[in-house]
Amino acid sequence: MSKKIAGPEIERLIQLLARLPGLGPRSARKAALALLKRREDLLVPLSEALATAVRTIVMCPVCGSLDTVSPCTICRDERRDREVIVVVEEMADLWALERAAVVNGTYHVLGGHLSPLDGIGPERLNIAGLLDRAASGPVKEIILALNATVEGQSTAHYLTEQLAPTGVIVSRLAQGVPIGGELDYLDEGTLAAAIKARKRI
Ligand code: ZN
Repeated sequence: MSKKIAGPEIERLIQLLARLPGLGPRSARKAALALLKRREDLLVPLSEALATAVRTIVMCPVCGSLDTVSPCTICRDERRDREVIVVVEEMADLWALERAAVVNGTYHVLGGHLSPLDGIGPERLNIAGLLDRAASGPVKEIILALNATVEGQSTAHYLTEQLAPTGVIVSRLAQGVPIGGELDYLDEGTLAAAIKARKRI
């Protein structure tokens, strides 16, 4: 066991920061030190923002996204096409699609992807809610906007099977050459997907 070098309050701060994605113990120590050094312009505002988030941000019971109102702003929006649900793994993916302003449907946030090795089965994701939405209401198409990773694609495969009995159209994002991409830089998997998903002009 490593020797404790700081008081329990600072150790606790470091341990909590180390749980954040992308931060190991070393980065967590640096982050904690930066927070403690910059008390007025960083530590105090951050602690207030965290307290506000705890108090006000809730998970939407319909789509699983995070917002200060329940159901969320998107689920309440009358201008959204309720016949289309775009399924994403995480909130960050929803934000990316909203920034691109390419979706006028509603969303469904799974909260991750299936990963049997990490013990993440269907019951750990927001899948039951999606099946309920698909089986009832006006839904006609479900777009699986999942990551083009092994886990993302196996999650898409699982969802496609689960959604089949509902009769709803299930589609997924195209895979292939990114906008502005040069063929010479692409890996074989991307090139193969692009050839397979080719379109007649
Ligand atoms: Zn919602």
